[in-house]
Amino acid sequence: MLRSLLKRSAARKRNGKAEGGVCCIFKDTLEFILAVSESSHPREFVGLLTAERTAEGGEVISDVIILPGTRSSSFSASFRRDMLPLGVRFVGTAHSHPKPQAMRPSPQDLQMFAQTGQRHIITFFPYGEDCWRCYDALGREKQLKVVERK
Ligand code: ZN
Repeated sequence: MLRSLLKRSAARKRNGKAEGGVCCIFKDTLEFILAVSESSHPREFVGLLTAERTAEGGEVISDVIILPGTRSSSFSASFRRDMLPLGVRFVGTAHSHPKPQAMRPSPQDLQMFAQTGQRHIITFFPYGEDCWRCYDALGREKQLKVVERK
């Protein structure tokens, strides 16, 4: 069992997919993130992203987990790390910026990104369908394809 797990992770590394696997997000998941961002306004919303494997071997962001005990205010939102659910594999975070056009990660965001997965979505006021960006763990902007859930 352990050996087959090790073999699989070695194979994944050889394919170069160990890090770059998350390529897309389901359209309804993105719409949900934007809707929660809007309903939380003027406070920030923050959630964890989970993903499903695609037939092509990549991963698609499929759900958002909003944790109990998440502190939220007009200037910051952060996780209580002790509330992270056990056994849930998350691939990143999503949070909102209540200021118009505030699409860039803050220094605190970059610290959170570095500790919580490989893809991080920031939504910003007024939360229209283009009012979001995706970043990697180092805060570099990344393309995320929006796909329909089958
Ligand atoms: Zn932020």
